[in-house]
Amino acid sequence: MRPAWDDRAAGTTDLEQLIYGSRLLGSDPTIVNWKGGNTSAKSAEVDHTGKTIRVLWVKGSGSDLATITRKDFVGLRFDEVLTLQAREAMSDDEMVDYLLRCMIHPQQPRASIETLLHAFLPFAHVDHTHPDAIIAFCTTKRGEALVAEAFGRRAVWVPYQRPGFALSKAVAAAVRSHPQAEAVFLAKHGLVTWGATARESYERTLRLVAEGERFIESRASARTSGGAVFGGVTVPPLSAEGRQALLTSVLPTVRGAVSRAGRKVIYVDDADEVLNFAGSAAAPQLSQVGSACPDHLVSTKHVPLFIPFDPARDDGDRLQTLLVEGCERYAEAYRAYLKACARPGDPGGDPAPRIILIPGIGLLATGKDKFMAMQAAGLYHRAIAVMRGASALDQFVSLSEQEAYDVEYWPLELYKLTLAPPERELSRRVALITGGAGGIGRAVAARLAEEGAHVVLADIDQAGAEEVAADLSSRVGEGRALAVRCDVTDDASVAEAFRTTILTYGGLDIVVNNAGIALAAPLEATTLAQWRRVHDVLTTGYFLVAREAVRMMKAQGLGGSIIFVASKNALVPSKEASAYNAAKAAEIHLARTIAEETGSAGIRVNTICPDAVLEGSKIWTSAWREERARSYGIPVDQLDEFYRRRTTLRVNVFPRDVAEAALFFASDRSAKTTGGILTVDGGVAGAYVR
Ligand code: NAD
Repeated sequence: MRPAWDDRAAGTTDLEQLIYGSRLLGSDPTIVNWKGGNTSAKSAEVDHTGKTIRVLWVKGSGSDLATITRKDFVGLRFDEVLTLQAREAMSDDEMVDYLLRCMIHPQQPRASIETLLHAFLPFAHVDHTHPDAIIAFCTTKRGEALVAEAFGRRAVWVPYQRPGFALSKAVAAAVRSHPQAEAVFLAKHGLVTWGATARESYERTLRLVAEGERFIESRASARTSGGAVFGGVTVPPLSAEGRQALLTSVLPTVRGAVSRAGRKVIYVDDADEVLNFAGSAAAPQLSQVGSACPDHLVSTKHVPLFIPFDPARDDGDRLQTLLVEGCERYAEAYRAYLKACARPGDPGGDPAPRIILIPGIGLLATGKDKFMAMQAAGLYHRAIAVMRGASALDQFVSLSEQEAYDVEYWPLELYKLTLAPPERELSRRVALITGGAGGIGRAVAARLAEEGAHVVLADIDQAGAEEVAADLSSRVGEGRALAVRCDVTDDASVAEAFRTTILTYGGLDIVVNNAGIALAAPLEATTLAQWRRVHDVLTTGYFLVAREAVRMMKAQGLGGSIIFVASKNALVPSKEASAYNAAKAAEIHLARTIAEETGSAGIRVNTICPDAVLEGSKIWTSAWREERARSYGIPVDQLDEFYRRRTTLRVNVFPRDVAEAALFFASDRSAKTTGGILTVDGGVAGAYVR
């Protein structure tokens, strides 16, 4: 059920009602794409001189109707905009420049690229959307005839051309010559409706969409005699376990293959409609016809990569080969597309696929971060719905390659991308931090996330890791932090943590070996069980995690950074901590051995040696504190004071100081360093490498 207009919630002014109606439309992804569509209202406003003028309120470029607010709309002096109707032609640059000068206030966003379409229609409220059911008509070979059949004289058909001045004039002319029309169907593009009020325009959109859906369903059942959408399923979905097992083995390689011109994060989508489409008889050809809507192009590209995989015939190795070859083939074809369609001075594009369809398994979407990859997958759901509708009506058609290119690389479309915050140092990277629920682990995760990384908090304390992940997601963005339960001493548990990471992000670039426990006891009092436990976590655990990381990083072929959080005690032993000191020293040598082995694969392994970090740390248990105090010959209640006094000379070491060192090793700032040791000892000569 789509939301009904509620006059009480809609507000009273034209602008309030415009915002309300825009949000209602935007709340339904079958009507409005993410950041797509645009809406407008024409009203009378008092300007800065006190004069009442006519104002066109229109959506600002790059905002999303679902969450739109007052500040996302631009007010334009309508009479000034209208004078453009007299012109024969206008370039995009001239149009942008002209509209900037019509703004009623200089601090507003740039007006939507489809502003003139709204301006030239003589109606108080105009909505332009991309509903699946309407685009299905617009992307059908016999679309114009079918629209006439389904909607009669209420709909006007306007042939495809890229948005801009010329399309705006064509739409206005079409409506002038069809005064009875209620809507415009833009071929291969979308819907335009209008009304005397925002409510009338909204309800008209809903009515047309519902009629379109009913018409399509009646044709679908007539054509398929009750079921075989897309020619029926020829490759049925594998079980969820089967899909995950295959994906775990191939995803790191795929991530490497799609990251040649810039790292990507991969989102796996195995929703029923995706599985049914990917495994259908029609998908190999139908998926290659082209995009379902120009709005999708920047996120999904014109065509997805289709992998001709059949689990009944092919194994995991074969799938991997098909994917690698497929990505290469795709990149070659994409470069040819750029060569054929680009104009001098156009920016080159990343040739990697954005959507990969695998029968039996689902869809892989790639993006610069998890959120963008999810948006691309979401748009492909829309494409499937449109192709389904168009195939039920007749035959799905799409833009030509040149038409697609002209939208994908349209400067006004690319401008929207520039509105996103600039990419940070660790953007596009994925980091796994063991002991992520602890004092230092949490600080490291926060620092890496702040710099743009996706972070996986792997800890035996699952609740603690979840709390950190929730906190980070709320601070840096949806999908950017993940908690996994992991006991670093258990091979299977480590493998499971990596598996979850792969399935969530596609791979991994940074691993911080940080999980820890401490033991302070004189040598004679140290039991074998204690000794073994400390070594289990600090050496065996670091080995298991590093081994898994190296395997995955080698499969990706993108290099990587592994960081060990050892301790000052690894270099300068403190009394009565033999197990801890020895295990921490072993960590350093393990790190350097791995560095020797993996340098040629671009995998760097470096170690941080912090001195005492009290803030937030859970290793300072009461037993550890008592032993520490005893080793310094002071009562335990004087320990904190002892450290404070000791650190009056030096600067106290905080988790964030260790996090800064981790950022250095994680990032390309240390690209030329491996096997290194960085002490974080408060800045006095407490723990330098001897
Ligand atoms: P912490 O106790 O606050 O955090 C350690 C985390 O490791 C905890 O969340 C714990 O649940 C987790 N952990 C323990 N055993 C695990 C296992 N088997 N598998 C997975 N996770 C496990 O301690 P911290 O101070 O944040 O220490 C982090 C690292 O820094 C440790 O390796 C520690 O030895 C090292 N370090 C700490 C200090 C210090 O003074 N705090 C100084 C130098 C080095």
